[in-house]
Amino acid sequence: MRICVFSGSSHGYAPEYEATARALGGLLARNSIELVYGGAAVGLMGALADATLAEGGRVTGVIPQALVDREVAHAGLTHLHVVSSMHERKSLMARLADGFIALPGGIGTFEELFEVWTWAQLGSHARPCALLNVLGFYDHLLDFLDRVVEQGFLKKVHREMLLVDKEPAPLLRAMGRYRAPVETKWIDPART
Ligand code: AMP
Repeated sequence: MRICVFSGSSHGYAPEYEATARALGGLLARNSIELVYGGAAVGLMGALADATLAEGGRVTGVIPQALVDREVAHAGLTHLHVVSSMHERKSLMARLADGFIALPGGIGTFEELFEVWTWAQLGSHARPCALLNVLGFYDHLLDFLDRVVEQGFLKKVHREMLLVDKEPAPLLRAMGRYRAPVETKWIDPART
């Protein structure tokens, strides 16, 4: 079992962001779930990987060559895939993972989450997509997504595919129970 986590290359200002990244990393390790992530040593990404490794967990990083220096590729991972582009990074992370979680982060994190969620909407995969809403960080986004449903641009069934919780443990449990509402056949949209 492998979970891909998207998260900020920054720490954010509140200490709870890093504390929750660490809590999630430890929880994955204790549940023998391998972490797949962007391979960086910086920000919440680094804290998450460090916490998984510190509790004896396995961590696979996927980083484009161009970011090896800028995001400081983590030197202590179980596996580090250095790929040639951002698209290859996302494609490989998606193929490796049985589910996806976004922690707080910036636009890189949003882009990664929205991509895997839209792939689920298209029925390209049936894996759970989840949001760890630490300190209500994503409350405004979730309100906006409800508005998108109200305005007829997103089906309720697709909105409900995005699992949300403030705490890592209940979020992981919800992911374990997840069944995709649409029929799926894995076609990797990044490769079509
Ligand atoms: P951020 O949330 O902006 O701090 O970025 C978090 C991670 O997302 C970093 O590893 C970024 O390299 C990565 N990222 C930024 N833009 C993209 C993109 N277009 N596709 C995939 N990953 C990205």
